[in-house]
Formats: sequence, C-alpha cells, structure tokens
Amino acid sequence: MTQIKNAMEIFQLLDKSNCGECGDKTCLAFAASVFKGQKSIDECPKLDREIIERYSDCSGNHNIVDQNRDEHLKMLKDQIAGLDLAAQAKKTGGRFLDGKLTIKILGKSFSVDQEGNIYTDIHVNPWVAIPFLNYIIDGEGLSPTGNWVSFRDLKDGKEGYPLFRKRCEEPMKRVADIYTPLFDDMVHLFNAKQVDEEFESDISVILYPFPKVPVMVCYWMPEDGLASSLNVYFDETADKNLDNGAIFTLGAGLAQMFEKLAVRHGYSEAEFHN
Ligand code: SF4
Repeated sequence: MTQIKNAMEIFQLLDKSNCGECGDKTCLAFAASVFKGQKSIDECPKLDREIIERYSDCSGNHNIVDQNRDEHLKMLKDQIAGLDLAAQAKKTGGRFLDGKLTIKILGKSFSVDQEGNIYTDIHVNPWVAIPFLNYIIDGEGLSPTGNWVSFRDLKDGKEGYPLFRKRCEEPMKRVADIYTPLFDDMVHLFNAKQVDEEFESDISVILYPFPKVPVMVCYWMPEDGLASSLNVYFDETADKNLDNGAIFTLGAGLAQMFEKLAVRHGYSEAEFHN
C-alpha cells in the first residue's frame, strides 16, 4: 500500500484543473475530502487507472488514514534507530542525556530514545509526533534568520497554500474572533514571545514548536467595517529544518489545539464551524 501522510500528497496526484466533475469545487477541496475519508480517490475521473489502483486503499476510510499515519510514524521510528542522537541534539537545538535526545516543543520537553520511543509529560498527538521525528531526522539545523515568510513562500508551498489557509489560518482566525484571550493563553501556556515592533499587528506572538522553527501568528481585529484577519508566518529557513508535509501538519495541528483550548474554556465547537 502506498502511504499518504497528508492531503497535500493527494493533491499532488491530481490534475489541478478545478473542473468540478468530482462534485467538489476545487482539486484542493477534493484532496481534503479524500484524506478525511469522505470521498474515494476514484471519484476524480481525470486520474489514470494506475494511480487509482496504487492509491485506492488510501481513500474513503478513516481507518486507512489512521493506518497510514501509524505506518509513517513507524517508518520514522525505524530511521531514528540509525541516527547519532548526540550529534542530532547539537544540530537541532536539543540536548542529549542518558541515551535520549530532548527538545522543547511549545515549552514542554519531548524526548526520544534510540528505538524511537517518545517521552513527555503530556499527551503525544500524531500532529506533534510526526513533525518532531521529521525535525530530528531530516532537519538541517539552520538557525532562524528573522526573515518571516508565508507558507506559500516555502518550498512547494505555493500550490498547497489554499489548503494550508483552510486548515490552519482560517480555523485559527475563527478561534481568535470568538476567543481573543487565546493569545494570552499562548504566551502563558506555550512560552510564546511578543514580536518585534516592526511586525506588530493588533495581537501577535511567536511560538516555538521546535527550537529552530519559530512560528509567528498575527491577528488583526475587525475595524471600521473591515473584517478581522489572521496570518501565520514561518522563518525563511523552516523548509530546511522540516519538510513541507511536516510544516503543514504542524500548522493544522496548532489550529486544532487552539480550538480544543477554547472549548476547554467553555466555548462550543459548533461556534467555530458556523
Ligand atoms: S474532478 Fe479531479 S480534476 Fe476535476 S476538480 Fe475534481 S479532483 Fe480536480
């Protein structure tokens, strides 16, 4: 079975004509439906039979999505076994002690041992685990330059940006619109930092999902008839320290985490999906 790690990988297989014959308005929307298991990949009439056969197991079934994720995680764990964790700790801004590499993710310690086992005090979501292992295995360890760019300016980001907007920036904006103290929570719970003056919006913070992959979230409140807006920026080195799929997973995962945080503060999930 061919592994699919995220909706963008499905999108790359499509013809990108947005012809609508699958019933979705765009190829991106179709890719997201397939990844979520709501549609089967063979509902796009423009795909070659060979691609449909290769990927048909990856669509129309939530269990298959979970299975793909588990298999991907297992593959990453196997790769950890062949790594020099002490050297990777230096490269990635972590530390190496007692056979474990430890880095801070949003201010919380996450460790991995040579067998790929992950240790932390908090629940390990797949959206954290996969980028975490990818950061350790493939990250070049480049230090951030302080030049902020949008997801679309990163490697392979242009085509995937509409989906990133839909899965990360739009849901985050909905949370910020309804639950504006979110930004205070980010500062206090996730060790976020205030941004330099030149990038200031109404509310803006820098989060550190990984030591060398800062993420800046800028929110503008509605004003004088203008709608609110929210943008997420990455350091220009982000695509050297994480692959494109991992950056996407991270952004979508952060948005989900913020939704859960707001729900914990008494807001109903329905409010974010209206
Ligand atoms: S039918 Fe295929 S090419 Fe047309 S919009 Fe749907 S996914 Fe895209």
